[in-house]
Amino acid sequence: MNTLLKNIPKITPKYVKTLEKLGLFTIQDFLFYLPRRYDDFSKTVALSEEYLNSVITVCAIVTKVKLNRIFRRKLTIAEVIFEDENQTPLKAVWFNQPFILESMPIGTEVRLSGKLKLKGKYFTLSNPAWERASREKTNTGQLVPVYSETPGITSKWIRWQMKTFLEKNQNLEDFVPEELRKKLHLYSLTSALRQLHFPENEEKLLIAKKTFAFREMFLMQLKTLQMKNVWEAQSAPSLRFDEELIEKFIENLPFQLTGAQHKASIEILKDLEKTCPMNRLLNGDVGTGKTVVAAISALSVLSQNQQVAILAPTEVLALQHFQSFSKLFKNYDFNVALLTSSYKLINCCHSERSGAQSKNLQAITPKLSNKSLAPRLSSADPSTTSRVQDSAQDDMSKITREQMISQIESGEINLVIGTHAIIQKDVSFKNLALVIIDEQHRFGVTQRSVLQQETMEFKDGKKKTIPHLLTMTATPIPRTLAIAFFGSLDLSVLDEMPRNRKPIKTKIVLPTQRDQVYAFMRREIGAGRQVFVILPFVEESKVLTEVKAATEEHKKLSLIFPEYSLGLLHGRLKSKEKEAMMQDFKKKKSQILVSTSVVEVGIDIPNATIMLIENSDRFGLSQLHQFRGRVGRGAHQSYCFLFTDSTTQTSLERLRALEKSNDGFKLSEIDLQLRGPGQLLGKAQSGLSDIAMENLNNLKLIKIARAEAENILKTDAKLKKHPLLAKALEKFAKAVHLE
Ligand code: ADP
Ligand code: MG
Repeated sequence: MNTLLKNIPKITPKYVKTLEKLGLFTIQDFLFYLPRRYDDFSKTVALSEEYLNSVITVCAIVTKVKLNRIFRRKLTIAEVIFEDENQTPLKAVWFNQPFILESMPIGTEVRLSGKLKLKGKYFTLSNPAWERASREKTNTGQLVPVYSETPGITSKWIRWQMKTFLEKNQNLEDFVPEELRKKLHLYSLTSALRQLHFPENEEKLLIAKKTFAFREMFLMQLKTLQMKNVWEAQSAPSLRFDEELIEKFIENLPFQLTGAQHKASIEILKDLEKTCPMNRLLNGDVGTGKTVVAAISALSVLSQNQQVAILAPTEVLALQHFQSFSKLFKNYDFNVALLTSSYKLINCCHSERSGAQSKNLQAITPKLSNKSLAPRLSSADPSTTSRVQDSAQDDMSKITREQMISQIESGEINLVIGTHAIIQKDVSFKNLALVIIDEQHRFGVTQRSVLQQETMEFKDGKKKTIPHLLTMTATPIPRTLAIAFFGSLDLSVLDEMPRNRKPIKTKIVLPTQRDQVYAFMRREIGAGRQVFVILPFVEESKVLTEVKAATEEHKKLSLIFPEYSLGLLHGRLKSKEKEAMMQDFKKKKSQILVSTSVVEVGIDIPNATIMLIENSDRFGLSQLHQFRGRVGRGAHQSYCFLFTDSTTQTSLERLRALEKSNDGFKLSEIDLQLRGPGQLLGKAQSGLSDIAMENLNNLKLIKIARAEAENILKTDAKLKKHPLLAKALEKFAKAVHLE
């Protein structure tokens, strides 16, 4: 199985090179190179008019051959006349394959597969697949595999090689225990591979696919469960649920919590009371108010003199959180710090009651001399703003990164907000009890376990415990996927929008209606509003194309709207430049922001009311919904315009779902049905095979895999009695980045 293809004499170096380009190095790689689809040539018939226009296989004997050359068009046509078992004549033609005639002397019996037509008096097949009738069915006569081809390698060539390899490898090691296979009616690896490459019929193909999907899900569940067990074997500081404190905080909020926020907060606060570390995912659509729930959790910890770290994926978001939390905790005695590579800020959320206003530093490092980037703390509270800014000037040169880090270590700073990289790298805490990760869809789903691992390794200043972990995501995740991928997490869902929200009006816009929308934009901007224009996401490797498209759109719109200032945001800008661009927009220095899909998901710009998305049919529904969530955050009515040139019914149908629904969970379910989980999760990130991805919709299979994984781990936690499984699991975890 691990024999290198290049050591196999039958495969010439030229082929080896091409195979290696496909990522196939060993026999095992080759055997796992599965067909992209199948041609159904399984209907073997005698010629008859009833089969006209259907795909059939027929056995026939060569009676006449002829080669036609059409010089002017450099075309050769090999024409062969056959007779089937009833002596019905059949004409087959092949274009530009003159050599075919050499293999078909008169009297040869051949099996042909293709679509049957009637031309003149002849039944006809053009460019049919064929092989000698005496050979085993490989290219005709059954479900025939079609592989992804590259120049130099045809499906036909792969089929012949595959057949040989399958014959030589009859007893492949199988990590799924035999009694389990029997119980679940699954194939052995050998049979599954055989049926996947050369299915005897549809039913067997289905079982083979199910077998393959099960194998991966089984490994996935084993891995998640193992991680869960490791996590649960740890201990964490138990934090009392102080109802009075929490109620007071909630009472002082400028709004009423939604039912979902209330429920999630209680779930979290109860988790924090336990000595087993919390590992909870807070899943709520954009705008459902995750920040307040995070604040309630943090409050419980901070008030018991323990530290909290909040990690954001980008500097802009970290800064935004710093501002929100400083404001939310302005009446408490906590010191909040912002630590990213551009900012090192400390804000003493002074207690107005104790009057301990400048007990601590409020400082900015020299790096932050760029005024346009200077953060404004709560604009609703000018005293805080000025205080921070004044002392910032005073202390400009006094606080350094080192000082901040030492204050974190000494416990003077209670709440640290920052970007992952920075906080994880070199910060030690005095007593870190809660880590909150706002991941805003930035991380691969499976990477979440990496975060979990890292949380366990935080220098939290405690010897015997690890911090509780709360992860937040704005991607609504359908239930099936949540079970498959986050089996090790507890789930809290915010599925309720704050009541004061006006639903965003969404409309599909056809090319003819473009001017109308531009006129509408003008009116809204005239009334003081702002507009996002998003250009489609091209694959990551094509950043340049994307940048070009955005730059051109920016130019075009600048001509259409000469009276306004337009910002431009794309992946080629440095993060500082991106940030400055976002800040300008936030400060209304520009009215229209043209952006590629890099636009920050979590950024809050309440004054923007129009989201215009070009070529919207190229995005997934969930992603479109995420973009739409950029607007509708303020008091004004917001709009989302989905531009599309596509006229196909399916893509319009899909977009219509957005017109009808503002519910991210519902949309992600539709996405899952229509485009498969790859779109939602990013296939590359998940590392799963196509077959496994297809079956992620299969809740039943996932549940079975989970139950069986639990079963095995119950008696054999370390898989000592299942060495093949242990080995496969190790390999799998590497491939899907679960570790
Ligand atoms: P997200 O879940 O996208 O992170 P945020 O926490 O940023 O959402 O909240 C979005 C906005 O809604 C914020 O301005 C926040 O103050 C406000 N908000 C949160 N909860 C409520 C509520 N229950 N009622 C009204 N407004 C709320
Ligand atoms: Mg948020």
